Amino acid sequence: MKVLVLGAGVVGVTSAWFLAREGHAVTVVDRQPGPALETSFANGGQVSVTHSTPWANPSTPAQILRWLGQEDAPLLFRPRADLAQWLWGAQFLVECLPSRTRRNSERIHAVVTYSHAVLSALREELALDYDAGRRGILKIYTDRHELEAAVTPAMRAPGAAREFKTRDECVAIEPALAESRLEIHGGIFTPRDESGDAHKFTVGLAAHCERAGVRFLFDTPIEALERESGTIAGVRVRREGRSERLAADAFLVCLGSYSPLLLAPVGIRVPIYPLKGYSVTLPIDDPAGAPTVSITDEQMKIVLSRLGDRLRAAGTAELTGYDTELNAARCKAIVDRVFELFPRAGRRDSVTLWTGLRPSTPSNVPIVGRTRYPNLFLNTGHGTLGWTMSCGSARAIADLMSGRAPEPGLVG
Ligand SMILES: Cc1cc2nc3c(=O)[nH]c(=O)nc-3n(C[C@H](O)[C@H](O)[C@H](O)COP(=O)(O)OP(=O)(O)OC[C@H]3O[C@@H](n4cnc5c(N)ncnc54)[C@H](O)[C@@H]3O)c2cc1C
Repeated sequence: MKVLVLGAGVVGVTSAWFLAREGHAVTVVDRQPGPALETSFANGGQVSVTHSTPWANPSTPAQILRWLGQEDAPLLFRPRADLAQWLWGAQFLVECLPSRTRRNSERIHAVVTYSHAVLSALREELALDYDAGRRGILKIYTDRHELEAAVTPAMRAPGAAREFKTRDECVAIEPALAESRLEIHGGIFTPRDESGDAHKFTVGLAAHCERAGVRFLFDTPIEALERESGTIAGVRVRREGRSERLAADAFLVCLGSYSPLLLAPVGIRVPIYPLKGYSVTLPIDDPAGAPTVSITDEQMKIVLSRLGDRLRAAGTAELTGYDTELNAARCKAIVDRVFELFPRAGRRDSVTLWTGLRPSTPSNVPIVGRTRYPNLFLNTGHGTLGWTMSCGSARAIADLMSGRAPEPGLVG
């Protein structure tokens, strides 16, 4: 079957890989000059397998209210005259109900667990180098009350998947924390979790895709999906200044935050809205001053991952539409926090700033599966965990499109 994959982020490229492995003739189309140059470019790097609680959970509405109007707030809602934003916000609040959070956590858990197994197998098979870190994730708390609220009795049992750690135990796990200027009250350690550079991974996998016969059409903006007699007949693209139709037997939408914009004109509504985040990346000056365990800073909603000789800190969320401007106050808040935690990691004047739009559903459960068009499929809406979930959802959609039963719980 001839398949067009729309989008060459981490989700599109992993999908192309598994589709090609099933024997399909795959072409990937993207407006950028290479793979993973939008949201998959400089994310937090965490492969967060053990932590599946979505951002929509019972504690979030109070936090958003507390931070309302604060320019450098970790979670910030900027009201706009945009119906999609308000509808998404209302759905997000519904997903904060305890019963919804439980259900969403279970669904996310299924995706991340399977995805971790698929990523591990792929890493072995292709010997992919993506600055992988496999020393776990340590979630640290600088607020004693939040720590006490987060720790359950099960976390104090030896060998728990999520282990409570005292301040001293946190420092033993990550010695670079000894120099933190912030008071750390304790943490939760998830040793199975990993990290790695999603951009480097995607570029490496795209090279393997090409060797397996996948064709990439870069610098090719997609303008529209074109339907005929109840199916999708082609996609209208712009190539070398001309409008052109690309035809195929099947189409897979992996357009991240932009998926709803191309799907709405063919009558498909998906509850995806961009959730803007920031990252800072700095070359590491003193290896002993930078963490080798991936860190989640719960109060600031940022994560830190060591990617080879670089340190990446990423996070915070802003509901502000398709705006990719760098906001100075928000960047400064992350940079300040990095140097409070790890004063010797690198130099302030060497940081690279970046912003990206997480393709977020209100529940943080991705949209993977069929549509009402028999030859149009979706693999999108991976929100805060797209790198973590990419391999599993790619394998599942490739199975579905090839007529095989996907892993249970992956396709909705
Ligand atoms: C600050 C931040 C930190 C994050 N940290 C983590 C983390 O630690 N762990 C984790 O698992 N996830 C993390 N994420 C989430 C993760 O990065 C995303 O979920 C993931 O990258 C989404 O991948 P994607 O392929 O769906 O989207 P994208 O990477 O955005 O890919 C979509 C592609 O579609 C193309 N496209 C869109 N519209 C068109 C068009 N009209 N024509 C042609 N091409 C088009 C784009 O060029 C792009 O290449 C983070 C995100 C952010 C912003």
